[in-house]
Amino acid sequence: MRKALIAGNWKMNTTPDEAKNLVRVILNELNNSDDVEILLCPPYISLLSVKELLRGTSVKLGAQNMYFVDKGAYTGEISPLMLSDLCDFVILGHSERRQYFFETDEMVNKKLKKALEYGLKPILCVGENLKTNEAGKTKEVVTAQVTAGLTGIKPTKELVIAYEPIWAIGTGKAATGRQAGATIGLIRSIVSGLWGGGTAEAVRVLYGGSVTGSNITEFITEPDVDGALVGGASLKASEFVNIINQTAKLKQAL
Ligand code: PEP
Repeated sequence: MRKALIAGNWKMNTTPDEAKNLVRVILNELNNSDDVEILLCPPYISLLSVKELLRGTSVKLGAQNMYFVDKGAYTGEISPLMLSDLCDFVILGHSERRQYFFETDEMVNKKLKKALEYGLKPILCVGENLKTNEAGKTKEVVTAQVTAGLTGIKPTKELVIAYEPIWAIGTGKAATGRQAGATIGLIRSIVSGLWGGGTAEAVRVLYGGSVTGSNITEFITEPDVDGALVGGASLKASEFVNIINQTAKLKQAL
């Protein structure tokens, strides 16, 4: 059985002090539960201090991005080598990276390969924009993104995929559980076609896009949805912990 994963993507929020405070409050409010894997993805400059605070807990640490070269003259970039001793996970191909920093499927694919080479668990983000959704082309776009993202990559159960429809990110207008479940089912079938059913059954696929404590049940009760990538709501400790607690309760009941 796949373990649920609730990941908090803090994006470009929190100063170093705010990041430490947020972690302390989250840890303070968390109940011990082995039913859900918890992941925090703070800004790069807080990774070290957050790692210190997470020591001795089961909460995992992730980066929000990375470059696909080990080291060299790439001013301002962070390499997989730098992250490998620090992080468990790395978010790759987030729609904000694709939209504002012009990341292509080819770049995301190179990053995935590097992340795996360095023992980082990649969270590959895919999802359609509003226009594509309204044109009924979600299936085509998501299929193309997953296929391109996984090109040349050997089957691995360490991969996580996050289905994040762009129209749902930060808008307060989440997909319905049924919509998320259907697209995530499609994603699993694409992975099955590429890597075989055994691996596809083990790969976790998350939903992301305006997840809160009020709608998490809808997603977690979908059999193919293995958790959530949470943006805005992960910056509020009690809301984030509420999402985790509800997920744990639902998973225990399954
Ligand atoms: C995200 O950043 O991946 C995200 C899903 O954001 P939000 O939860 O704020 O929509």
